[in-house]
Amino acid sequence: MVDQNTIPTINPVLPETPIKMPVVFVGHGSPMNAVEDNEFSRAWIEVGQSLPRPKAILCISAHWQTAATQATAMEKPKTIYDFYGFPRPLYQMQYPAPGSPGLARRVQELVQKTRVGLDNDWGLDHGTWSVLNRMFPGADLPVIQLSLDYGMEPAAHYELGKELKPLRKEGVLILGSGNIVHNLGLARWEDQAYDWAIEFDERIAQLIRSGDHASIVHYEKWGNLARLAIPTNEHYLPMLYILALKDGEDELNFFAEGVSLGSISMRSFRVG
Ligand code: ZN
Repeated sequence: MVDQNTIPTINPVLPETPIKMPVVFVGHGSPMNAVEDNEFSRAWIEVGQSLPRPKAILCISAHWQTAATQATAMEKPKTIYDFYGFPRPLYQMQYPAPGSPGLARRVQELVQKTRVGLDNDWGLDHGTWSVLNRMFPGADLPVIQLSLDYGMEPAAHYELGKELKPLRKEGVLILGSGNIVHNLGLARWEDQAYDWAIEFDERIAQLIRSGDHASIVHYEKWGNLARLAIPTNEHYLPMLYILALKDGEDELNFFAEGVSLGSISMRSFRVG
């Protein structure tokens, strides 16, 4: 006879904390921001220092797209070097944060509209570690990633984001890592931003301020401007998760902005 009280909880509900964690979207840009001292890396350091210390971090990175939604569930996620042609020191970076199989199962339990699979192969890609290396350089907080299902419409990503809301009261920092404007094909070395990049970035900022999330989710209605700014939407989608997690009373703070390489918006914001 099995004593029910000795069976470990399979989907533990994390204890609520008195603080509702802020949520953060970071425009990550070049992987070099992980090692270079610049206005963006300094802004990430500052925001990391200003946040309440989370119990764990859930990152939605532009760099993990899968056929169905997955959460990393390994104990020790590896550092992934998912970029080419960068200087050697970047390939020697390690971000040895522990994983959190418990948090992965909690996400699986919370998300009802989409099935979330548990992944044991991925790790931390540069969308995650290039930013966390600045925000939490100790790499001592558990980190998991949630993938982007490339078959899902933007509105479905937004809805999935809403389902993660209870985690804010459970001490989990939810981080979206991408770029509002991201057109690598038109990137250029001089930092002269294209007019359309500035226009799209500023329009989105205005819509974020006014809380018009529907217009942000349905960006495809903007026609050519959106096609230039978001030729593929993997860098845009992480922002939708962060907006979905915003409550009416949450403060909004843009802590970095600017356009790098002509066509990559570095705009970053904190909610709450
Ligand atoms: Zn990227």
